Amino acid sequence: MVFLGPPGAGKGTQAQQLAGRWRIPQISTGDMLREAARSGSPLGRQVAATLEAGQLVSDEIAVTLVEERLNREDARGGFILDGFPRTVGQAAALDGLLARHGREPLNVMAIEVPREELIARLGGRRSCPRDGSSYHLGNHPPRVAGRCDLCGGELMVRNDDRPETVEKRLQIYQQQTEPLIAYYQRKGLLHRVDGLGAPLQVVERIIRSVEG
Ligand code: AMP
Repeated sequence: MVFLGPPGAGKGTQAQQLAGRWRIPQISTGDMLREAARSGSPLGRQVAATLEAGQLVSDEIAVTLVEERLNREDARGGFILDGFPRTVGQAAALDGLLARHGREPLNVMAIEVPREELIARLGGRRSCPRDGSSYHLGNHPPRVAGRCDLCGGELMVRNDDRPETVEKRLQIYQQQTEPLIAYYQRKGLLHRVDGLGAPLQVVERIIRSVEG
């Protein structure tokens, strides 16, 4: 399964829930890139600057990360991609990769959320740098203030959730990623899901949509 949607649509939250239910890995290129950025290596520092500016890393970097991850044993029985593909080039690379490995067609979930709601969600978002879990101060607070429910780690505001960067990310989504909705619709793989409401309501909508 692939999650498509603008920043703040709930891709990470939904992917984490469903990966747990279906016992398949959640593969988040954003989490992998944030981890690389924290490593402090020369490539990591370059990635950190790209992330902080709200820009996309190159297709080559994103595709290499995903290809390596999909080759791991735990992705054999299925996987959830969260934040990949983000460009038509990445989608084409993913098609090639799946075809080479004789894998089943994707289910692509386009999560739809109005712009004002995205901005409100990103403004209140708190994230766990250790495991990538997301919370919202208003509508999805952690059980203990400032701490991740899963690992107890300290929650932070992501560097790229600052208002100037949010605007840039929404613009890039519109220009580079939104065309993938038509791309997957043409292939007959697209499911549209209303992303408004409580996280569990959205999870149920996604399940209904794929399981029919
Ligand atoms: P996310 O956690 O999915 O919001 O991703 C955070 C940031 O990581 C994005 O704003 C991009 O800078 C970068 N990123 C994540 N996934 C990709 C991708 N598939 N291609 C290029 N850049 C990506």
